Amino acid sequence: AKAAGRNTLRFYNRALQERMQARAAMERDLRLAIEQEQFELYYQAQVQSGRVIGAEALVRWHHPSKGFVSPAQFIPLAEESALILPLGAWILRTACECLVRWSRNPALAKLTLAVNISPRQFAQADFVDGVLGVIAQTGINPKRLELELTESMLLHDIESTIDKMTQLKSCGVNFSLDDFGTGYSSLSYLKRLPLDQLKIDQSFVRDVLVDPNDAAIARTIIALGTSLGLRVIAEGVETKAQCDFLERHGCNTWQGYFFSRPITANAFETLIQTA
Ligand code: C2E
Ligand code: CA
Ligand code: CA
Ligand code: CA
Repeated sequence: AKAAGRNTLRFYNRALQERMQARAAMERDLRLAIEQEQFELYYQAQVQSGRVIGAEALVRWHHPSKGFVSPAQFIPLAEESALILPLGAWILRTACECLVRWSRNPALAKLTLAVNISPRQFAQADFVDGVLGVIAQTGINPKRLELELTESMLLHDIESTIDKMTQLKSCGVNFSLDDFGTGYSSLSYLKRLPLDQLKIDQSFVRDVLVDPNDAAIARTIIALGTSLGLRVIAEGVETKAQCDFLERHGCNTWQGYFFSRPITANAFETLIQTA
C-alpha cells in the first residue's frame, strides 16, 4: 500500500510537472505569436429583428505547429502572464482598423463592433488613454465601438470603474455587460454603472426551452435590463425556437450560430453585402 502511495505521488508529480511545462511552452509561443502577429479577428453578426446591426470581434490564434488554438485556452493564460496587454492592444487596434474599412462602405458604415476587454486590460491606469488614443489614430466614430466588460472586473474598484466608463461614454463609446448572470451581479452596483446593454450568457440560452430555471433567468434578465433602460442581447442562439422564445419575452437582439458563426473579416463583409 505504501509503495502504491509513493507511485501515485510520483505519478501526480509527473503530471503536474508536465502541465507546468506545457504552460511554460504555451506562454513562450504566445509571446512569439504577439511579436509575429499570428492572430486574426473573426466577426460574428449581431441581429435585430432579422437585420444585422453589428458584430462581435473574436480573436483567433493560428499556431505555426498546433494549428488553431481556442481563445478559451490562451486568453486566460495571456491574462495571467500580462501578455493580454500587448495582445489586447493589438485586438483593439485591429478592430478599429476594421471599423475604418466599414465606414467607407455604405452597406457596412452603420454597423457597431463589439470588442472584448479583459479584466487586466481594464484595470490598467491608462486604459482610457489607450482607447482614446486608438480612436484618435484611426479616426473612427466612437459611437460604432462597443466594449464588452464582465461583471467581476467592474466591482473590485467601483469608483474607478465608473470613472473610466464615464470618460469613455462621454466620447460616445458604448458598453455591454458580457456573460450577464454568471458573475457576482450586485444589483445596487448595476444601476450605478453607465452601461448601454446587458448580454444574456449563452449558458442560459442553451436550454431555455427545456429548463424552466434557465427560462426564468432569461426572462428576468430581459425584464431587469429593460426596466433599467438598457438594451438586452442574447448570445449563443442556435435555433429558431430559442430566437422565438426570446422575442416572445421582449428580447429581439441576439447573436449565435443560428444566423452565423464567427467568420473572417472578408467573409463577414461579403455576408452583409449579399444578405
Ligand atoms: P465570449 O465573449 O462569451 O464569446 C462568445 C463565445 O461563444 C465565442 O467563443 C463564440 O464563438 C461562441 N459562440 C457564438 N455563438 C455561439 C452559438 O450559437 N453556440 C455556441 N455554442 N457558441 C457560440 P470563442 O470565440 O471561442 O471565445 C471564447 C471566449 O474567449 C470569449 O467568450 C471571450 O471570453 C474570450 N475571447 C474571445 N476573443 C477575445 C478577445 O478578442 N479579447 C478577449 N479579452 N477575450 C476574448
Ligand atoms: Ca463577449
Ligand atoms: Ca459572452
Ligand atoms: Ca462566455
